[in-house]
Amino acid sequence: MENREKYNVDKDWLYQKYFIEKISIGKLMTILNCSSDVIYHRMKKFDFKLKPRKTNSNKGVSLKADSIDIEFFKQKYYEEKMNLREICLLLDCCGETIRKFMKKNGFKIRSQKGRKASQETIERLKKIGKENAKKILIDKDWLYEQYFIKMRSMSNIALELKISEPTVQARMLEFGFVRRNRSESKLGKLNPMFGLTGEKSPKYGKPLSPEALENLKANIPRGEKNHNYKKPEDRIDPINNQIRNCQKSKDWKRKVLARDKFICTMCKSSKNLHVDHIKPFALIKLENNIKSLEGALLCEELWNINNGRTLCKECHEKTDTWASGTYNLIKKLKEKQ
Ligand SMILES: [Zn+2]
Repeated sequence: MENREKYNVDKDWLYQKYFIEKISIGKLMTILNCSSDVIYHRMKKFDFKLKPRKTNSNKGVSLKADSIDIEFFKQKYYEEKMNLREICLLLDCCGETIRKFMKKNGFKIRSQKGRKASQETIERLKKIGKENAKKILIDKDWLYEQYFIKMRSMSNIALELKISEPTVQARMLEFGFVRRNRSESKLGKLNPMFGLTGEKSPKYGKPLSPEALENLKANIPRGEKNHNYKKPEDRIDPINNQIRNCQKSKDWKRKVLARDKFICTMCKSSKNLHVDHIKPFALIKLENNIKSLEGALLCEELWNINNGRTLCKECHEKTDTWASGTYNLIKKLKEKQ
């Protein structure tokens, strides 16, 4: 945006020009050599109300499409080969008015063949430089290579050639090239996040924002939809952990380990030692109807050292009661009853 403040627009002057002399915004733009943005900004600042469009055109201040002389237009556009921009300036109207007029009277846009470049275009092409101008105007293969093989963006190409992006776009259309869509233009190496995984990611090690965290929590599947869901009958009783971690249990384990001299009773290994209940823990719990830690502490059978044995991890895993072994055993016992 241009700097609005650099235009010194006086309140009285603007009032005189716009409301008394009925000069259009477009003309004021030319007088001040500024954009419409500056004028609208000042009008708002001075609390001036914009005149409704209708009264404007009735007074004949701005030109309507109907009032353009057909013969005059034909002469200028087709005979003198003036371009539409130049005609707009000549008639002091906007491009939209001319387009409306042409459509209404069935005028076609002049054939692009043999069209003479305007002085403006010639100047611009000079600035771009001969080689670059050639590339963009003639070299279909060059553009194809840049855009489709090197996967450069249109803005990047435009930057190199010192031309605008719409010019590149227009050229592509002319050559019949189909533009990449947004998702295609972000594939693979073209994606700004390509390869930025783990520590390279700008988000690495940074906590999530509270909103993101809330959003994440809200989207966690609950109950049966969660991949970790267990049916009530399959769940491990939380009392089990309480019993296994209590001081009495730790003492029992230590006594068994000391008695077995800290080696596996099956293979004599001294690594990864476990203490196993010979008569399964779950079975004792079931038979003695243990429902709480207090109940477990009072159960003699549970703390009998003769029911304990030291096993290494490998040997423990080979026993029938490893993992769900006890569960299956209890299930069988229940079926028998
Ligand atoms: Zn062993």
